[in-house]
Amino acid sequence: MTSPLRGLSIAVKLPLLIGALVVVGVTIGALVTYDSVRAAAMTGTRQRLGLVADQIGGMLATNADQLRVTTGEVADTAVVRAFVRDPSAANRAAALALLTTVTNLSKKVPVIEIRSPSGALLLGAGDVARWTDPHLDSSLARDAATRNTGVLGPLHAAGDTIVYATAAPVRLGRRPAGVLVAWWKITSTRDAREQLNALIGAGGRLYIGSPQDSVWTDLVSRVQGPPVPVGGTRDVVEYTRPDSGTTVAIARKVAGTEWTLLVEFSRNEALSGTVRFLKRLGLITAILLVVLLSGTWYASRLITVPLTALTDATESVATGNFDRGVNDGRRTDEIGRLAESFDVMVSHVRESHRELEQRVASRTRELQERNEELEAFGYSLAHDLRAPLRAMQGFSQALLEDHGTQLDATGKHYAQLVADSARSMDRMILDLLAYSRIARAEVTPEPVPLERIVRNATVQVRSVIQERGARLTVDPDLPEVLGHEPTLVQVFANLIGNAVKFVPAERAPEARVRAHAWNGKVRIWVEDNGIGIEPQYHDRIFRVFERLNNGDDFPGTGIGLAIVRKGVEKIGGTVGVESTPGSGSRFWVELNRVPEESSANAT
Ligand code: ADP
Repeated sequence: MTSPLRGLSIAVKLPLLIGALVVVGVTIGALVTYDSVRAAAMTGTRQRLGLVADQIGGMLATNADQLRVTTGEVADTAVVRAFVRDPSAANRAAALALLTTVTNLSKKVPVIEIRSPSGALLLGAGDVARWTDPHLDSSLARDAATRNTGVLGPLHAAGDTIVYATAAPVRLGRRPAGVLVAWWKITSTRDAREQLNALIGAGGRLYIGSPQDSVWTDLVSRVQGPPVPVGGTRDVVEYTRPDSGTTVAIARKVAGTEWTLLVEFSRNEALSGTVRFLKRLGLITAILLVVLLSGTWYASRLITVPLTALTDATESVATGNFDRGVNDGRRTDEIGRLAESFDVMVSHVRESHRELEQRVASRTRELQERNEELEAFGYSLAHDLRAPLRAMQGFSQALLEDHGTQLDATGKHYAQLVADSARSMDRMILDLLAYSRIARAEVTPEPVPLERIVRNATVQVRSVIQERGARLTVDPDLPEVLGHEPTLVQVFANLIGNAVKFVPAERAPEARVRAHAWNGKVRIWVEDNGIGIEPQYHDRIFRVFERLNNGDDFPGTGIGLAIVRKGVEKIGGTVGVESTPGSGSRFWVELNRVPEESSANAT
């Protein structure tokens, strides 16, 4: 898989990578901190509220003991015992008076009763029907009758008020002869409850309840109990209250009672301080991120900006432009030193490049001069050689014509050979001169009509065509090309001449000229039905004096194709051949086509 970063420049990649690392690092750090702080806050709150629950539970247990003792003291009064021993009218009246006094005195004790050890109600002061539960009453009485100390009953809901009972045995000697049951109201004001809750702190709320009877109070009135069982082995439970969301509760059994103490707190409230802290942490993290990312961006630019300048300068040096410097002298660190060294290096390269160019230019000039001298020398040499050759030709001819009668057949043959050789050498010199002329000619390519060129070339080789009875087909609509007319006439005269010449004597030569134009180029083909050329000679035949056949079958000097190549190259074209021996040859010349607008001007 290819990385999506692959195509990006370092200037983008570096800040992206470092930025991503910073974001990941800071985010992980923030998340870990968030989690630890939350966990620590929850643990702290739980421990503190657990402690509070323990203390309040202890206080309640002490209080319960106290109430049991108080109940026992009343049960032990002479008046009560007298009633239990002898429930005469007088004793009953005295006992009732005592009990009524107690209920009147304490608003917290709405009912006091005296029951038999089996639980039957013997005497009651206060509104028994309203405040008590007959079933609970008798079972408590039965329970208390079997014990030395008093008992404390579960919570009971009398309407909206929560009450509970304490019961103590009334003893006559060792025998429990009756039971005194006192009912107590849990009455606390809302203010008192709020103060208590405020003391607990952390949004905690205190409840007391008898879970088995589902009776719970917030110390003021009856309330809905927790939705899950509490007071089991786990002292911390979690549940949802519709009014306060997720709630965490700590439950404690109150020693010596059937009561359970519950301290509840809302998770959100308990964590509100932490949330504030975390919000601040989030803000600081965001600021930190911005600072770090800006720093990263700035630091990466410190590297990538000079790197880009260096890359641009290197590219510009690669294209031969040495004028671009990278050192602005403002930096003295490693990058500054690199830029300075780069500039020094470029100046060295520029210097050597300049020296090299100068040397190449002077060598080229020298070479050109030598070449021109050589060509001039060759040209004049060829010229000078023609005079003695013409003399040899003339005199051998004169010898044959004027003194032929004095020569025998061998003498005439020799004289004829001298004349033929001189003619052939003169032909060779003329071809060489033509080659050297083309090689030295100053040629400026211009639009020329190919049709006219081929026509003129054909005129030049007309005698050969007629001699061989050749058939030459020239395709119509030949395009215009960029070239030099005299040169191209010479080129095509040589190609057509060869096409007609290199055909076995018994075959009638058939040559064809056609052109194919595409993409600003024109390829002109000169095809024949001649002897063909072995592939290994396809390049060699374009060199001077390269001939593949003997002069008897196909006379020539071996310069024709050298002139073709030199001439075509001079006007910016190329030349080549496709051929297999026995199946004819297809010589081609490729030239530039005349652009549309200049072609319009030329016509
Ligand atoms: P010349 O024609 O004077 O021999 P060229 O330079 O024109 O010299 O040709 C070089 C050689 O290439 C020829 O001697 C011949 O062997 C070969 N050649 C040139 N044109 C053809 C052709 N159309 N068919 C076969 N061979 C050719």
